[in-house]
Amino acid sequence: MKNIPVIIPYIDTDETNEVAMVLASGWVAQGTKVAEFERQVASYANVQYGIATTSCTTALHLALIQMGVNENHDVIVPSFTFTASSNSVLYTGGTPILVDVLPDTYNIDPVAIEALIASKYDVNMINKQTGKQLKAIMAVSLFGLCADLIAINEIAKKYSLLVLQDSACAFGAKINNVSEAAFGNMSCLSFHPRKSITTGEGGMVLTNDPEAAKRIMSLRSHGASVSEVDRHNSAGYLLPEFNELGYNYRMTDIQAAVGVAQMRKMEFITNTRREKASFYDKLIKEMGVDFIKPPYVPGGYYHTYQSYVCVIDLGDIGLDNAGALRNEIMSDLEKNGIASRVGTHANHMLGHYRDRYGFKPEDFPVSHMLDKLSITLPLYVQMTEQDQIDVLQALLNAKTKLMGA
Ligand SMILES: *Cc1c(COP(=O)(O)O)cnc(C)c1O
Repeated sequence: MKNIPVIIPYIDTDETNEVAMVLASGWVAQGTKVAEFERQVASYANVQYGIATTSCTTALHLALIQMGVNENHDVIVPSFTFTASSNSVLYTGGTPILVDVLPDTYNIDPVAIEALIASKYDVNMINKQTGKQLKAIMAVSLFGLCADLIAINEIAKKYSLLVLQDSACAFGAKINNVSEAAFGNMSCLSFHPRKSITTGEGGMVLTNDPEAAKRIMSLRSHGASVSEVDRHNSAGYLLPEFNELGYNYRMTDIQAAVGVAQMRKMEFITNTRREKASFYDKLIKEMGVDFIKPPYVPGGYYHTYQSYVCVIDLGDIGLDNAGALRNEIMSDLEKNGIASRVGTHANHMLGHYRDRYGFKPEDFPVSHMLDKLSITLPLYVQMTEQDQIDVLQALLNAKTKLMGA
């Protein structure tokens, strides 16, 4: 039987050697290796500062605190995203205000953002129902494709809002050759094994704002005003001050060692994923897999394909029936040793959000549709062309088995 997972991280002896050196050095917590990794990632993303954290979730939490988001604020978040996006707003006491996404890019709909602002907020961006102030838009760039960051930043400017990017899936993505991290106020990356490069767990805030960088550096380390590296370099006599509530969201040098080795492969990993994605695009046409809509890439967008997410179109059989068949197709693939996943979740239908805010599926119809009909196909560097053919053949077989030829 085949064994094709959704993703395998691309790791070799380079990572093992880097980790061995850190272990031998005796400094295993956050230190110079983290600083090296931060410089490399920031430089790759073309921004001034990178502040490493334990995950993208904690990076988002710190970025929101830096933006001043608290219980008096609303933050716009797409309704189709990994739940960490909106959870990070709840950690600050703020309220995530969901907005639906576009059916082709799967990213937040800028027209729907403006419509929401027009209907829900007064000229001072005060929520007419709750009295809370709209502070920021969280732009999530799903699966390696930038959200419409140009339109979102125009809206933010027009209404004096901040833009925080959840770029967990979008390290290396670009619009018109401009790095995703160069748009907006801050961008947060993830180094979970499902993302482009990995450190096991890990994240980073990217920004060009020196004040924001300094504060986030302090917030990730208990709110300490002197970093561990500075204290070490000053022979240990500098005692930090703790003037605000901080957290321990520090990445370790062991993780950063993996990251430094991964950064040497970043370009290769991205190029390979892009080649394999375009091979899927080609095969889908050639093999006649016409019930699958491949990922859409608007002109000028550089997609990094953290995930290859398609939408299943089984004709006019109703969303619930189509969703049930999507699940059966996925289960059939699994039985043939081929893993697949849904794209991501309709956040408003997750128990926590549904119960907290009383959402109905139809409140965000595109997100609801994508939740039922999206499917992530396996994509990783080590995958062969035959593997990709096998995945699509298995899809064709599953469809025929369930619905006839
Ligand atoms: C993976 C992911 C996250 C969370 O990243 P972690 O590093 O696991 O915390 C947040 N947002 C999106 C869109 C993601 O895909």
